[in-house]
Amino acid sequence: MSRISEDSIKEILDKADALTLFGDYVQLEKKGGRYWGLCPFHNEKTASFSVDPDKKFYYCFGCNKGGGFISFIMEMEKLSYPEALEFMAKRLGIQLQYEGASPDHSEQQIKRSKQSEFAELYRRVSGTFHHFLKEHPAGSDAKKYLLE
Ligand code: ZN
Repeated sequence: MSRISEDSIKEILDKADALTLFGDYVQLEKKGGRYWGLCPFHNEKTASFSVDPDKKFYYCFGCNKGGGFISFIMEMEKLSYPEALEFMAKRLGIQLQYEGASPDHSEQQIKRSKQSEFAELYRRVSGTFHHFLKEHPAGSDAKKYLLE
């Protein structure tokens, strides 16, 4: 299984803007150093959903839900963790990098290493036979046979 690389996750979190991301789901209004809106996770008439744009974090004082971008997207879009990352990468125009080779790829690698193993084995074996044939007494019968 390949998984999204740490670098890609970091890039997503660096590039994502809190006001844009949360603002897509919640209408935010600046009050003090924070932004406030109506919580998407519970019904309310006064805004208790707050966003800290610097910390890239949300917290709802009404239902005590809080977290970062990824958990927010997972919750809002009903996505798994990697799906939420892919969703955000797509929106941010980030090309995700995956760690660990894809199944095809590793199969090819195994095939290639097996081939070179065989080549190496063949080289050793043929060298040994060659030596036996030419130098070793055990090869004299075979040598005689070949010469005839
Ligand atoms: Zn809430």
